Amino acid sequence: MKIFYSIIIVLLLIGCNEDNNSLNAEENIKLNIRVHLMESEAWIHPLGSEMNMWVTESDVRQTIIPEMNSIWSQAKIEWMVEGIINEPIVEYNGFEEDIEYIINSERDDEGRSDPARLPLLYNLMNPSYLSSEIELEKNLFHIYIFPFIGNTSQGNAMNPYGFHSVVGCWTNKHNRGENPEKTLLTEPQTEFVRGSLARTISHELGHVLGLSHSCNNCLMYSRGYELNVAQIVISTEEARRRSGV
Ligand SMILES: [Zn+2]
Repeated sequence: MKIFYSIIIVLLLIGCNEDNNSLNAEENIKLNIRVHLMESEAWIHPLGSEMNMWVTESDVRQTIIPEMNSIWSQAKIEWMVEGIINEPIVEYNGFEEDIEYIINSERDDEGRSDPARLPLLYNLMNPSYLSSEIELEKNLFHIYIFPFIGNTSQGNAMNPYGFHSVVGCWTNKHNRGENPEKTLLTEPQTEFVRGSLARTISHELGHVLGLSHSCNNCLMYSRGYELNVAQIVISTEEARRRSGV
């Protein structure tokens, strides 16, 4: 009799475990992200900063991705690191002039960032690590961390370039175009000081998942982390489509 009850208990335990596993599997939509650390000689800003690539693989794994996942948990989206590539910029003919252009680019009178710098950033990416046309629709998302992506700009979703999104690890957005400083890895949770790489990356991935700046003091506009109900619906739908679940 004892053996009979033991078998029942074991069966029950196995049953519970399976339930838990399938519940967990359903909970998060897992999206793959490839992070490119764009290596180069330091880019020299006219105001003096020597902007090097200082973000490391462990910064990405231990600090940036966990904060991104905490932000995106409200849409039950989980970012899985597919790869972190230490990628030397492509040194084609005239690349130095193009970097010079990027470093000096500014917003126009209406506050729009300079679109002419985007193809130049795209040209610095190694073609063998980009997504092909077919892969673009699949479950692989790209973030390129450059030394700098233009004055008072911290990120761009790169919509016309297959969403090979870019962020700068040096920025002068918070000091309105003064000498660039290292971008924060994550933001202090209590009081907003300035935008971090984790939040900017989360914001650009929001665009990739179909979101616009349609909120206030939130992830997609101004400061904050929140996604509203409509944004959760849109991003979840796109995430499901891309991940095939
Ligand atoms: Zn935006």
